[in-house]
Amino acid sequence: MDFAWTDEQCQGHEQARLFAQRELAGTGAEELGEAPGKEAGRERWRERWRKCAGFGVQGLNLPVAHGGLGLDTRTAVHVLEGLGEGCSDNGLLLALGAQLWSVGMPLLRFGSEAQQRRWLPGLAQGESIGAFALTEAESGSDGLHVRTRAVAEAGGYRLEGVKAFVTNAPEAEVFVVVAASAAEAGYFGLTAFVLERGMAGLEVGPGLRKMGLETSPMAEVRLNGVWAPAEAVLGEVGGGGAVVRHTLEWERGCLLAPALGTMERLLQATTAHARGRKQFGRPIINFEAVGERLAEMRLRLEVSRLLLYQFAWLKDQGQAAGLQASMTKLYVSESLRRTAELAVHLHGAAGYMRELEYERTWRDAMASSLYSGTTEMQHNLIAESLLQPAAAAGERAAPSGRRLAGPAAAATSEPGAGPPSASALGRQRERGEAGVEYAPAGSGEAGR
Ligand SMILES: Cc1cc2nc3c(=O)[nH]c(=O)nc-3n(C[C@H](O)[C@H](O)[C@H](O)COP(=O)(O)OP(=O)(O)OC[C@H]3O[C@@H](n4cnc5c(N)ncnc54)[C@H](O)[C@@H]3O)c2cc1C
Repeated sequence: MDFAWTDEQCQGHEQARLFAQRELAGTGAEELGEAPGKEAGRERWRERWRKCAGFGVQGLNLPVAHGGLGLDTRTAVHVLEGLGEGCSDNGLLLALGAQLWSVGMPLLRFGSEAQQRRWLPGLAQGESIGAFALTEAESGSDGLHVRTRAVAEAGGYRLEGVKAFVTNAPEAEVFVVVAASAAEAGYFGLTAFVLERGMAGLEVGPGLRKMGLETSPMAEVRLNGVWAPAEAVLGEVGGGGAVVRHTLEWERGCLLAPALGTMERLLQATTAHARGRKQFGRPIINFEAVGERLAEMRLRLEVSRLLLYQFAWLKDQGQAAGLQASMTKLYVSESLRRTAELAVHLHGAAGYMRELEYERTWRDAMASSLYSGTTEMQHNLIAESLLQPAAAAGERAAPSGRRLAGPAAAATSEPGAGPPSASALGRQRERGEAGVEYAPAGSGEAGR
């Protein structure tokens, strides 16, 4: 793995940082006004969204043919890191990421030509907004056991169910929705659909108020007998599990790329404060306990970078990186939470005040260990990877640039050739090897 950034990549990072400082100043909350969801606030939020699209953010990872910039993953995440450093509107950053990785990537991989032509250019150019709807009230971590039903009728499917906590839903025009088309078939009974606002029976609930991330719109998506023609199926009927797996891998690996920039900004500001703030006649940075905490922030940032860049590098090599995605998600989210907490703490009482960004960023950061699979679920997935025969035989569980061998590869598989097929996993089951269906109940493989 090459750690050196090219001049072009450095420029992309720097330009994104400057763009964010110039065009996305403020928290974004004032843009929404006192009552999020009010028309004026929504229009101002859309304006910020369009500015991002003008810079190219929503098209970073999409091919030029679909109106994107066609960047490789490493370059895209480095640009997002710069964006995160310059922009403290963490809600907007999450909303952008939810579209980039959870809507753009599954459409790119599984979308029909017609679906790609219909949606990708608009998403890249900021004219349309996308949402990924998997979670339900009864299936969160156990995300593959959805209650939403897709009942086959002549020429398509009738969808019934309610999706919960869907980022971007209040603003979205396009929804990637996962439903059970054959409930008894488990993983292979799931089917993903591309639905659009305005379809009869598709209703978006009122915007949800959250602890933080106020500028990341969120709502329920209710499917009251929505008619989805066969052309609305994303990928194959019964291939919804593969869509989820693919989407979550990208989400976990890349969603927190802007958080690298956030952590950099918090570290710089907290260090500057510790150098300037005097107690007992000297700068507080000179107290060992303060220095230790700054060192922890620094170390967490650097390790987060290494994990995220490694994930991006593996994807650029066309490799499966499910395990790296889990490790990246777990470590970066926990580091973001800890870094934000330390930024509040080392600023003293001032850090606890609303005037500074730290308490808000800490509230925003708290969500990162929940979305895209909780910290506990990532622990489960990482631990399960150690149960795979390859790891038990002494092979490295987290190869740098090498594919996992054998069943471990299948369990985290997202090779260039395609998702794990039903027949391949069926053969695994026959051999009694570990795979999706063989994961312990409630474990990561069986869930998110
Ligand atoms: C800001 C934000 C944005 C989101 N955006 C989206 C979105 O766009 N689309 C979408 O579909 N969903 C979205 N979600 C939902 C998110 O994916 C779920 O909240 C998450 O998967 C956890 O599910 P849950 O909330 O039902 O918690 P639960 O699954 O009920 O978990 C509750 C607690 O139990 C623990 N737990 C559960 N099972 C296990 C286990 N097997 N082992 C150990 N611990 C376990 C969890 O770690 C957690 O601490 C979002 C959530 C947030 C907070």
